[in-house]
Amino acid sequence: MTTTTTTACDLTGTSGSTSSWSEKLNTRWHERALQLFAVIVLAHWAEHLVQAIQIYALGWPVPESRGVVGLWFPWMVKSELLHYGYAIVMLVGIWVLRSGFTGRSYVWWMISFWIQFWHHIEHALLQGQALVGENLFGRPVPVSLVQLWIPRVELHLFYNTIVFIPMVIGMLYHLFPPAGEAAHSGCSCAVVRHRRAA
Ligand SMILES: [Zn+2]
Repeated sequence: MTTTTTTACDLTGTSGSTSSWSEKLNTRWHERALQLFAVIVLAHWAEHLVQAIQIYALGWPVPESRGVVGLWFPWMVKSELLHYGYAIVMLVGIWVLRSGFTGRSYVWWMISFWIQFWHHIEHALLQGQALVGENLFGRPVPVSLVQLWIPRVELHLFYNTIVFIPMVIGMLYHLFPPAGEAAHSGCSCAVVRHRRAA
C-alpha cells in the first residue's frame, strides 16, 4: 500500500527538492508571482505602444522613437542581447507559472506560451546576426523572418500584443473560473472560488 502511494506522488512530480521552487511558484507564491510577472509584461508592452504613438501620432522619425526608457538610455533599444534576454525571461516566466493554471485558463496560457516561443526564435535569429556580425539577406541591420513582410517596430508591437491577449484571457479565467470549473486548489488567485455549472 505504501509503495503505491509513493509512486502516485512521484508521478505528479511534486516530490523531491528540484520541484519545490516551481511547486511554490504555482501554489502559495502563484498570486504574487503572477502580479509581478504582469507588471513586467505590461511595462514592456507599454514601451512598444509608446513607440508606435511616437511614430504614428507624433510623427517622430523611427530611430528617434525609442519609447520612454529608450529616450534616456538609447543603447537599451539598440541592444539585441537585451531584447533577446527579455524574450527569454518572458518565455521562462510563462513556462514556470503554467501548472498553477487549470482547464480553460491553462489552454489560453499555453497559447500565449507557444506564440512567445516563436517570438523568441525571431529574437534568437536577431541576436545571432548581432553576434556573428553578418546580417541575413544582405540587410544593413539584423532582420528576423517575418520582418521580410512586416517592419520591425510594427512586427514586435504585434508579437507582444498577440502574446499579451491570450495571457490576459488565461489570467482572467484563472481569477474567475468559468462555470463548471473549480478554482485551482493550491493557489490564492481565484476571486470567485466555485461557480455551479449552468
Ligand atoms: Zn494562481
